[in-house]
Amino acid sequence: MAGASPTFELDGPALDAARRAAERPLCEECLGRVFGRRGRGLTNPERAERLRAQLGASSSPPGPCEVCGGAFDRWPSWLERGQKAVEGWEFERFSCGSRWDPEILAKEEAVWREVGSSEGESARSAFNREWGKRLQKGWGRTADPKDPEVVLLADVLMGRVEVTVLPVYFEGRYRKLDRTLPQTRWPCRRCRGRGCDRCGGTGKTYSESVEELVAAPLLAATGGEGTRFHGMGREDIDARMLGDGRPFVLEILRPRRRSADLTAAGAEIGRASGGRVEVLGLSRADAAAVLRVKEASPEKSYRVVVTGAVEEEKVKEALSVVADRAIAQRTPTRVAHRRSDRVRTRRIRSATLVEASEGRFALDLRAEAGTYIKEWVEGDGGRTEPSLSALLGVPLRVEALDVLAIHDREV
Ligand SMILES: [Zn+2]
Ligand SMILES: [Zn+2]
Repeated sequence: MAGASPTFELDGPALDAARRAAERPLCEECLGRVFGRRGRGLTNPERAERLRAQLGASSSPPGPCEVCGGAFDRWPSWLERGQKAVEGWEFERFSCGSRWDPEILAKEEAVWREVGSSEGESARSAFNREWGKRLQKGWGRTADPKDPEVVLLADVLMGRVEVTVLPVYFEGRYRKLDRTLPQTRWPCRRCRGRGCDRCGGTGKTYSESVEELVAAPLLAATGGEGTRFHGMGREDIDARMLGDGRPFVLEILRPRRRSADLTAAGAEIGRASGGRVEVLGLSRADAAAVLRVKEASPEKSYRVVVTGAVEEEKVKEALSVVADRAIAQRTPTRVAHRRSDRVRTRRIRSATLVEASEGRFALDLRAEAGTYIKEWVEGDGGRTEPSLSALLGVPLRVEALDVLAIHDREV
């Protein structure tokens, strides 16, 4: 704080404490820190200097610092170690932490107690701040403890720096025009991903997924080590996702680079998938976007093609009573292996007949999040009650199902 002259006046018991502290083998940083919470705007070595001036003392007794063992005197090494640790990783914002021998932290509190100071600042917090300031100055990047892209951790005892690279996030909406494509990778059930005869050594049940097709160009652009795909729900493998698509967030783990040409990536997804997957509105996102897509429960619109021996008029009649009527849906048999078996209440918001021919008709439906559409049409052996099949009194079968819209942008 050049120019400013913060007050740092010690008197009474504080002056006695300072006198006792000055007699201990402490480095300038650790001595100043004994009164680290007094005199805002001063660095700890500045505190030590003022303290000595008031005591008329010259310097500390010789020998290594009894608290930090010299960690605060080795900034050039810590800067170099920090630099080495982040080599090859692109980032703008970082934060600093440190791991200390608990004995050192206990020792430091013992010193404060013995000299009688209640204004000490811990070595860890001072080290983190000072290291961050120095790295920031050297790098021209921002120390941002709230939203870092890389986190440096100094192991003070071992003299090592570890780096954690945080994921980079992209968001957009995907359209899926293929009825054989799952949303995310499905590990092979038999080998659980290791690779076996059944999966041809791929470790996967399906050779491709929306996740992999969307991730490929972004992984290549960022040099990441893996991905996590967060969709706002998911459609069945054999359902298409039409309209303006389904919101998703793609998380890229340990990216070497944090930026990508998103227009090019979007075009590449369409090209490489042979037009089976399209991505709209691809943009950078933050970690909070994952929670937003995970917690949203928007209504959805569907087009469902149904086969069954029933007259058009009967269908229309049945549809006229389904809107907003409670449907009790027990967990469908087809998902019972991965979901707990319970009964949920859901509602169809609207239902319209859009096409009818001999033995086949098409409906447009809008339903609450989590409604099992196929089961509502077919009945799932009585597990969904009432079903359209039960209302019509004939067996029905869903021939094709498409998601037309995810209504996440409506209030
Ligand atoms: Zn020290
Ligand atoms: Zn396998």
